[in-house]
Amino acid sequence: MGNDDHGRRKTPCSCCMSVFKWIPVLFITAVIGWSYYAYVVQLCILGMENRVTMAVFLLFYHLTLVLFLWSYWQTIFTSVGRVPDHWRLPESEVERLFRAENQEAQKRILNNFARNLPVTNRTMNGAVRFCEKCKIIKPDRSHHCSVCNCCVLKMDHHCPWVNNCVNFYNYKYFVLFLGYALIYCLYVAFTTLNDFIQFWKNENQLSEQGQLNGTGMGRFHILFLFFIGIMFAISLVSLFGYHIYLVFMNRTTLEAFRAPIFRVGGPDKNGYNLGRYANFCEVFGDNWQYWFLPIFTSRGDGLEFPTATEQLGNNRGGYRYDAMGDTTTNSTRQQSSHRTANSAATTTQPFRNHPA
Ligand SMILES: [Zn+2]
Ligand SMILES: [Zn+2]
Repeated sequence: MGNDDHGRRKTPCSCCMSVFKWIPVLFITAVIGWSYYAYVVQLCILGMENRVTMAVFLLFYHLTLVLFLWSYWQTIFTSVGRVPDHWRLPESEVERLFRAENQEAQKRILNNFARNLPVTNRTMNGAVRFCEKCKIIKPDRSHHCSVCNCCVLKMDHHCPWVNNCVNFYNYKYFVLFLGYALIYCLYVAFTTLNDFIQFWKNENQLSEQGQLNGTGMGRFHILFLFFIGIMFAISLVSLFGYHIYLVFMNRTTLEAFRAPIFRVGGPDKNGYNLGRYANFCEVFGDNWQYWFLPIFTSRGDGLEFPTATEQLGNNRGGYRYDAMGDTTTNSTRQQSSHRTANSAATTTQPFRNHPA
């Protein structure tokens, strides 16, 4: 969930904001709660005479609902991953950075500090990315979220509907949440479609058959359930489709709008594209039995990501670029765990001028 408290003192105003941010989640929860009553009580228990049909409807309904709510819960309450402490600049270094006489000096300080960190991303001007608010070297694909007030690993976007940042640790849950929400809405819409059509064809006939419990409110609940199901399904289908596309391209929403800039190769939207299956496994894991369950199975630690350049290098005889841009062989890398900064090639502007 969002880290509103991170680095902030609690004030009455910030408490009000914290409550305010939960309103979209409460709204969604209220809609789900109402839909449960409308479907289970009004449609199935009061509206169905055939017990077998009712049992089948309720079984699939509850199966979909459990997966939907489980994914939603995991998306909301999975903490935003914190950047480890060794990525944080000590106070002395921060002071040196701010007192540096020019941009080159600032860049040297950052390069020197990041020389052993696995960073391949750079700012527009080629500098190592630094967060002035968190005082850390930004790991690849991470961004500072102004709502969570911290740097978020593999940040996708901040989603008000889950009151959390969609990031490395809950991205799988988020995609599953969209998928199961869509299935839930479609299931509800299709199983109420018959009642909806019959209502418009012959309202009186429905009352006689007791399919709508013969009451105005029961009828209202089921008709409204159909409309809500269709409405949410239409909005979810495009969002879910877009995120499936992003998963297969190994791209975050932020990267889709602005390509990540690599130390070697510059801006490249396909910089993390390892092929569809590998991209999918990076988010959903290697074991297919867990693909569709909201259990964490994503590859990696959120700090370091295999790149397309690296994969290309490996396929061409073991050459790859290291974090700071040096070209090395795999055997060389095994002999030395320390990466060296290629300071001669880092002719950049200072971090101050760079976008977050
Ligand atoms: Zn930050
Ligand atoms: Zn956030």
